[in-house]
Amino acid sequence: MEFTVEQERKLVTDLPGPKSKALQQRREASVSRGAGTLANIYMEQGSGAILRDVDGNQLIDLGCGIGVTTIGHANPEVAAAVAEQAARLTHTLFTVTPYENYVKVAEKLAQLTPGDFEKHSILVNSGAEAVENAVKIARKYTGRRVIVALDHAFHGRTNLTMAMTYRPWPERAGMGPFPGDIFSVPISYPFRDGLSGAEAAERTIDYIETHIGASEVAAFFAEPIQGDGGIVIPAEGYFQRIANYCRRNGILFVADEIQAGIARTGKWFSIEHHDVVPDLVTIAKGLGGGMPIAAVTGRAEVMDAVQPGGIGGTFGGNPVSAAAALKVLEIIERDDLLGEAQRVERTLRERIGGWPQRYSFVGEVRGRGAMFGVELVLPGTKKPNPEALKHVISYATSRGVIPLDSGSWDSVLRFLPSVVISDALIDDAMSVIEEALDDFEVSVNQC
Ligand SMILES: *Cc1c(COP(=O)(O)O)cnc(C)c1O
Repeated sequence: MEFTVEQERKLVTDLPGPKSKALQQRREASVSRGAGTLANIYMEQGSGAILRDVDGNQLIDLGCGIGVTTIGHANPEVAAAVAEQAARLTHTLFTVTPYENYVKVAEKLAQLTPGDFEKHSILVNSGAEAVENAVKIARKYTGRRVIVALDHAFHGRTNLTMAMTYRPWPERAGMGPFPGDIFSVPISYPFRDGLSGAEAAERTIDYIETHIGASEVAAFFAEPIQGDGGIVIPAEGYFQRIANYCRRNGILFVADEIQAGIARTGKWFSIEHHDVVPDLVTIAKGLGGGMPIAAVTGRAEVMDAVQPGGIGGTFGGNPVSAAAALKVLEIIERDDLLGEAQRVERTLRERIGGWPQRYSFVGEVRGRGAMFGVELVLPGTKKPNPEALKHVISYATSRGVIPLDSGSWDSVLRFLPSVVISDALIDDAMSVIEEALDDFEVSVNQC
C-alpha cells in the first residue's frame, strides 16, 4: 500500500496546537455545541493509520472516525475512483434513472454477506438510515409491529433509531417523544453476567416471552459485536439460540454490521464469528472508505416485500459513493485485508492481553480483528471506572494517539484502528496508552 504521509507519530507543537486553538474559537462561534468532540485537534490530511493536523503534528488514529476508514485514510485508489466518477456522473437518483455502480454494489454485497440464498439490497446514506429501512422492511414483510434491540445497543441518532439505542445520555436525553413498540432486552455480556451463551439466551427469550410475546415481534436487531456499547461480545452459542428461536417464531434476525462489518473483525461480517446466518444485514461505516454510503442486504423475498416507491431516498447509493465502495471491496479482497485484521488482532492480543494482570483497574481486554475494548473498573470490583477512561483518553490524545471511548457507563477504552496499521505503530500507540494507565495509577495513589 502507498502512503502519502509517513507512518509515524510526530509532534511539533503541544496538542492542540495554535492553529487548532484558533479554529476551535471560530467553531465555538459557529457550530452547535450538540456536535460534541472527543479531541479538539483539527485535521487536514490522512494516510493509512496516521492523521496530520493543521499544525503539522502526526497522530496515530485508533478510531478511524468510528470504524469508517478501515482500509486506511484517503486511500489513493479510492481517491482516484472517486475523482474519475465525479468527473463523469455525480447524480441521477437511482429511482428516476438508474446506473450500473448501484447494481454492482448490490451484486457484491449479495455475494459477500452470509447465507446461500438469493439476496437483494437497497443503498442509502447512513447507518441510521439503513437501520430505519430494515425496520420498515421487516414490519412490511411480517405484518408485525414490535422491534427488539439489545441492552447496550447503538443503532443511530434518528428518532426511530434513538428509540432502539440503549443509553439515555447523551444520545436521547430531552429529545423525545420516541416511537413505541421498541423493546430493549437483556444481552449476553460475559464479563458482567458470568452466564454461558445458553443461559443468557434463555434469559433474553424469557424476557421476550413475558414482556412482549413472540407473535408480536417483527425483528430482533443485534450488533454481533457491539461497538458503542463497549465491544461487548456475547458468549458462544448465544446468537445461535436466539436465531433458532427467531426462526421458530417467524421473527427476522437482523445483524447490524454497521461498525463491525466489512473486514473490521477479520471476517467480512462479525456475525460469522457466531456461525449464524441473518435474514437482513445493515452495513455502513467501513463500506465507502470514508465516503457516505450504507446498505440493507438480505433475503430477496423479505427485501421485495415493500411496494415500489416504499423505500428509497434522494442521495442513496449515489454514483460517487458507490464507486468508492466498489474500490474498497476490491482492495479488501485483493490485498487480503481480512488477513491484515487478523494480524492486528494477534499483535494487540500479545501486546495488551496482560493488562488485567498488570493494572488493578483494567477488568478485561476483549476484541476481534481490529476492534478491541479495554473495560476499566474500580480496583477489585466490576464497577465501571469512567474517571480512568477520561484520564487515559485525555493523556493519549495530548500525546498524539487517538483512541475512542465506549460503554453504557463510559468506561470502555475502544480501539478501531485501520487494518493497515503496522505492528510498529501499534506498539508505539500501546506504549502511550500504557503511560496513560501508569499516570492514572499514580494520580489515584496520590489522592
Ligand atoms: C454508527 C452506527 C450506527 C449509525 O450509523 P450513522 O451512519 O451514524 O447513522 C448504527 N449502528 C451501529 C452499530 C453503529 O455503529
